Amino acid sequence: MTFEQLALRPETLRAIKEIGYTEPTQIQLEAIPLLAQGIDLIGQAHTGSGKTAAFGIHIIEHIDSTKRKPQALVLTPTRELAVQITVEFKKIAKHHKTSVVTIYGGASISRQSEELHHGASVVVGTPGRILDMINRGVLHLGEAKIVVLDEADRMLDMGFIDDVQLILDQTPKERQTLLFSATMPDPIRNLAKRYMHTPENLTVSSDAVPLDKIKQTFVLVEHVKKFPVLLNILKSKNPELTLIFVRTKFGADKLARNLDRSGHSAVAIHGNLSQNRRDSAMHAFRQGRTKLLVATDIAARGIDVSGITHIINYDLPDEPAVYSHRVGRTARAGASGQAISLVMPDQFIELTDIQRTNGLKIEREMIPGCVTGEWFTDKRQHNPSSHHSHDHKKEHTTYRFGDKFDSGFD
Ligand code: AMP
Repeated sequence: MTFEQLALRPETLRAIKEIGYTEPTQIQLEAIPLLAQGIDLIGQAHTGSGKTAAFGIHIIEHIDSTKRKPQALVLTPTRELAVQITVEFKKIAKHHKTSVVTIYGGASISRQSEELHHGASVVVGTPGRILDMINRGVLHLGEAKIVVLDEADRMLDMGFIDDVQLILDQTPKERQTLLFSATMPDPIRNLAKRYMHTPENLTVSSDAVPLDKIKQTFVLVEHVKKFPVLLNILKSKNPELTLIFVRTKFGADKLARNLDRSGHSAVAIHGNLSQNRRDSAMHAFRQGRTKLLVATDIAARGIDVSGITHIINYDLPDEPAVYSHRVGRTARAGASGQAISLVMPDQFIELTDIQRTNGLKIEREMIPGCVTGEWFTDKRQHNPSSHHSHDHKKEHTTYRFGDKFDSGFD
């Protein structure tokens, strides 16, 4: 199936070709024709599925770009995502001359007001500032015919749900509403019930890039050797842009600092940073001035930077399903990528769960400093007495590893 078969306007097709998309992703294939019928849609899809272009193409095709009044509104949880969506929209709208304005907190209100005064046919932004602009009388949504709630569950997590409802109340009732959310907690379901007209549901399980196209390995490493092994990974792989995942905000700062001290320019991104710091970190990474971005899962959600060659799971994710969201950040749009996970000897169960949940086989890799000995379950260790030999629970909870270490640090 090609974009041509989706019955798009020549200007849109030309722009898509220039961006370099050769064929539609699953969500684009399914959502674009459905949306063209004007129905409401609930999409359970992640970053990486191509959802932004799916609703972007729909919006650009269905608004009048010569009319400088907001006809489409996209609400997103973060400023980064708002900026990313705007960039993608502008590319798709290149030959339509659509004016897209981004509205988010932490930046100059007067500049954003000015942009709105100049006229916008599409507005993308975060709920707090959008509501502020409505209350100031700068933003009028009376002609918004398409409203997208992107990453709705995350907007809920961040406390934006009331703002979202107040904003929706300012838009025409007969609008078309699209809601994207990775999970469907009750408040989101209720929001959908209240504000959507018999929505269609669309679940997209696979990412734009199939995970099996990404080389995935793990390195067995003792806790105290994690940092030196990371340095050796960087040395042996010589990666371009690398996204390093850690579990905590504190861990992100610490790792970025230590990398910096070791001569690797790195920045951390997490929820405790001011908007300015987050922006400059993302900017440095996007431009390739800083090759290493250390991120927590929450902060990394929605980050889409082209050219990420490596994903390093410095800490394994808490939830096995999060693994594929992390890894899906590399190898976008046909590029090749690699994901490496640091696994500690007592994390056999975590690694097994990750492989099972994501339907993957992750190969072991040797890096100087890692544990090189064999890793196996030792059933006898917890069952010294034959009376307990049928205690399966215990049998499967003890793991031993060989005690050989590669000491080949440089
Ligand atoms: P999203 O799921 O919207 O965050 O998009 C994920 C990535 O997929 C972005 O980098 C897009 O540029 C890219 N993308 C979107 N549609 C396509 C397509 N049809 N072919 C290749 N890459 C795409």
